[in-house]
Amino acid sequence: MVIDSKNSDTDRDDDVCERLASDFQTAMLRTGFFVFLFRGNLLLMLTLERFSFGIGDRFAHQAAAQLRAFQMLEARGICVAPVWNKSNREHTFIGSEPQSVFDAGRAAVEALGWKRPWHVDADHIRLETVDRFMSCSDFFTIDVADSIGKPAAAEDVRAFVDRHSELQGPIELAGLAVPLSISRAEIERVVSKYLLAVQDAGRIYRYIAAAKGEANFIAEVSMDETDAPQTPPELLIILAALADENVRLQTIAPKFTGRFNKGVDYVGDLQQFEKEFNGDLAVISFAVRQFGLPANLKLSVHSGSDKFSLYPIIRRALERTGAGLHLKTAGTTWLEEIIGLAEAGGDGLALAKEIYAYALEHVDELCQPYASVIDIDRRLLPAAATVNSWSGTQLANAIRHIPNHAEFNAHMRQLLHVSFKVAAKAGTRYTDLLKRNAEIVGKQVTENIYDRHMKPLFLD
Ligand SMILES: [Zn+2]
Repeated sequence: MVIDSKNSDTDRDDDVCERLASDFQTAMLRTGFFVFLFRGNLLLMLTLERFSFGIGDRFAHQAAAQLRAFQMLEARGICVAPVWNKSNREHTFIGSEPQSVFDAGRAAVEALGWKRPWHVDADHIRLETVDRFMSCSDFFTIDVADSIGKPAAAEDVRAFVDRHSELQGPIELAGLAVPLSISRAEIERVVSKYLLAVQDAGRIYRYIAAAKGEANFIAEVSMDETDAPQTPPELLIILAALADENVRLQTIAPKFTGRFNKGVDYVGDLQQFEKEFNGDLAVISFAVRQFGLPANLKLSVHSGSDKFSLYPIIRRALERTGAGLHLKTAGTTWLEEIIGLAEAGGDGLALAKEIYAYALEHVDELCQPYASVIDIDRRLLPAAATVNSWSGTQLANAIRHIPNHAEFNAHMRQLLHVSFKVAAKAGTRYTDLLKRNAEIVGKQVTENIYDRHMKPLFLD
């Protein structure tokens, strides 16, 4: 990772040499540079590990508690790279700067003595929003979903179809019973739908590469924030087009079938998901060889957190194929903070109840930006007066994601998930409580990641 010390305005008073030495040390700690063969050229590139896990930390107080879960997993012999992610939207809602995500990650890495790679993801950036992430991120999620379905130049579409007659197949894909054959008309339809998005990804990728150096960042292309899922044949065509644009992506986040609501389990057809997920893995492994994409290219699942029922499917697929995975979660750490404060009682519990009461009063405003990724039945949201009569444990039980717990309420959980800006408004009153209750809050954060996510994905 290349660190631009000019942009670290948080500790101006530091001795510059000390600062650069520490940046260099951090860069060395994070080093994951490997030689790549890309379209006949050998390249030294910052390389994402086989397994990586995206974690959100809205208020930048839980990085150490999050990292502890990765250490516990490492102690069991499984290495997963932590990737701290925070989107422009979340920064805007909270009023934070991207540099704070890097600073919190580095502090945690130093405090816990983490010697393995770690990354900072400029999550869902576009050309208009990438600049302020440039110096403090080494992972960029290039979001081109908005350009899906917009027309690309007709001659570009025609040129793609002519250039890629091999896509018409039949293509034998390892692990798939039936070879893939895609008609010329179908290729044309898919390219017409996605080519402009791919060209956008190329523009954003080259912009980042010009600023940072192509070898110094990990590129992900995301198309998940759209209505229609991309099928495996569509993914194949998209990857061919990305290779044509010379985008050396290491992860791709398609939209999968089903609903990925924030902070709650998957809603959809599990069999269909499994079929698609396995199809995508087969397509990726073929595309790496056929189009010379980076050998570590893998799926990124923008899970919206807590897709527990998908974990056994994903795990089976990874074990069967040896594929890698980036699993992005969506800042549910903030819910663990509320759970911890509720459990702490006293002022912590009082603020947790206040936040809920405020959220309930402003439900429209808070839910509107997330309308497509939450499903809240308002009749099942308890009244503020009811919640005010609850004990801390009762409130914690209602929010903590143990789906079969009698007191769990998925509607409350989703509402609070999108209400982090209410806590941001409470300012230091909220963050001081986090500091004062660091132990009980941190325990929730670590246990959540380790017990509910890592264990089912990697251990038991
Ligand atoms: Zn996403």
